[in-house]
Amino acid sequence: MCGIIGYTGEKTATPILINGLKSLEYRGYDSAGIALLENKKFSVIKSKGELKNLIKKTEKENSVSSVGIGHTRWATHGKPDETNAHPHTSSDEMFTVVHNGIIENASVIKKELEKKGFSFASETDTEVIPQLLSYHYDGNISSTMQKAFSSFDGSFAVAFLCRDFPDTIFAARRQSPLIIGRGENESVVASDTCALSENIQEFTCLEDDEFAIIEKGKIEIFSSGLKPINKKFRKIESVAEKHDKCGFEHFMLKEIFEQPEKIKNLLKGKIRNKKVFIDEIAELSLEIIKAEKIYIVGCGSAYHAALAGKFAIEELCGVPVEVDIASEFRYRNPPVKENTPVIVISQSGETADSVAALRLANSKGAFVIGIVNVPGSTIANESDYVIATKAGREVAVATTKGYITQVMALYLFALHIADIRKTIPDRAIEIYTEELCRIPDKISEILSDTSVVENLAEKYYNKNDIFFIGRNTDFAAASEASLKLKEISYINCSAFPAGELKHGTIALIDKGTPVVALCANERLFKKTLSNIEEVVSRGGEILCVTRKNKIISEKYLSIEIPNCSDLFVPILEIIPMQLFSYFIAKKKGCNIDMPKNLAKSVTVE
Ligand code: GLU
Repeated sequence: MCGIIGYTGEKTATPILINGLKSLEYRGYDSAGIALLENKKFSVIKSKGELKNLIKKTEKENSVSSVGIGHTRWATHGKPDETNAHPHTSSDEMFTVVHNGIIENASVIKKELEKKGFSFASETDTEVIPQLLSYHYDGNISSTMQKAFSSFDGSFAVAFLCRDFPDTIFAARRQSPLIIGRGENESVVASDTCALSENIQEFTCLEDDEFAIIEKGKIEIFSSGLKPINKKFRKIESVAEKHDKCGFEHFMLKEIFEQPEKIKNLLKGKIRNKKVFIDEIAELSLEIIKAEKIYIVGCGSAYHAALAGKFAIEELCGVPVEVDIASEFRYRNPPVKENTPVIVISQSGETADSVAALRLANSKGAFVIGIVNVPGSTIANESDYVIATKAGREVAVATTKGYITQVMALYLFALHIADIRKTIPDRAIEIYTEELCRIPDKISEILSDTSVVENLAEKYYNKNDIFFIGRNTDFAAASEASLKLKEISYINCSAFPAGELKHGTIALIDKGTPVVALCANERLFKKTLSNIEEVVSRGGEILCVTRKNKIISEKYLSIEIPNCSDLFVPILEIIPMQLFSYFIAKKKGCNIDMPKNLAKSVTVE
């Protein structure tokens, strides 16, 4: 995953690289490092763990070099220690490299190079890049790049320095994102536009198998056959959202509280004559009327958003919806018929497995609707239609506002399509639309008093395992609730359809086993209640998430949410569950915004 930054210009590079890395830290924080080129020599500074450790080290240095590269790592090959931290330098110190992705044939290349006398310092796949560049290097940098990069299988976004070119950064990409920005007498290469410094006015995206030679006043881009490519540069439109906690203790809490506003944002301009109309998908009417099936693919929380969306689309639009995990979808050769709608959901728009799923769907003649938060991302660019979730920059690695806006986008999609397909009466569409418009206020109501959930954290923070159960739409919320808690508190959590428990998992329920039962779905309430009783009979301790004033039993702890239709239950149930995870993780003293082993934008498969 990782974040890459590179700078060449007239200013001192170190603070620019560090600032870039600060914006990219969401992409990985196992280690960080920078390399500067000065007087034909590299100075490399690396540090294990979060960026703050590297910052401390760089403060002691006073290099005035104005060319350098930097990296925050999310380890795929080799421990997250200082030796494996990037940049990696060739043994002859001719090349130093930062890399995002996986070189799948690294071990084969490494063996070959070892036979030729090269020795390796790290356990990473990345180290073969500088070594192979050095092996091929004969003074002609373009042909060296071509020879080296054509040997690699897998995915890479690479920026590197060569000792013979004191003002130049070289870059190459396949499947992992890399953008190049230019300003006056300075150029930047980065994994994401958020890392571009203020003075960079325009940028372009490097495409698969393109190379770039980046100087302060000149950027040259070549195809894999070394033909020059005239790329279009785009103006940077929006100033990146402020990287500020605004008084909240963590970004996650700030982002939880932003949710009502973000949903209002998403609703803006989409309600006409009391119904939903999404301009971005206005043209797909014909295909959608004929559609016999809709696929939705995503990973992690995006997959859970898809689960919530499935119920709404099937019920309101009368069309079967198949939900799949992108990393499975891409390798199972699904029989997607031509002109079938495939919805691909990704917050970053760069999720490697989701990008691959999109390309597979495209190759089968499907039309792809991307639900993405980051405009200009790969999924936004390659989808036939895009619904922007407009959640704004999400800093906390565990998604909250990113997820909730995906769910809302799917509800809006369902109502837009139901209207076109005429599958439910107009009046029903109006009632559901009105209800969606009231969701932000209901979320604000939940957020207005967090004390009940905060107090519960006391009881749950020292548990080793917690189960989440729910049926139908409750199950969609249970899946996301379970993921949220495990990712930030490291408690072993699993979610099950409530009716499924008795088919095996109930064997794990014992005296005191904590089970969170989501049971706000009114239609299935009694059914879930029976499953709750089954758990209680075996000693399980229940915490219910229910509708307001729905007394289940005084024996059970409960969290209440405002009333809403069964279809929209997940968007409300998840709010107290986000808070539940947050307060438990806080009580445990976990690193809430940057949980261990995770990264925000998952650009490796
Ligand atoms: N595969 C490389 C490593 O493990 C790069 C990982 C990344 O994208 O951060 O060092």
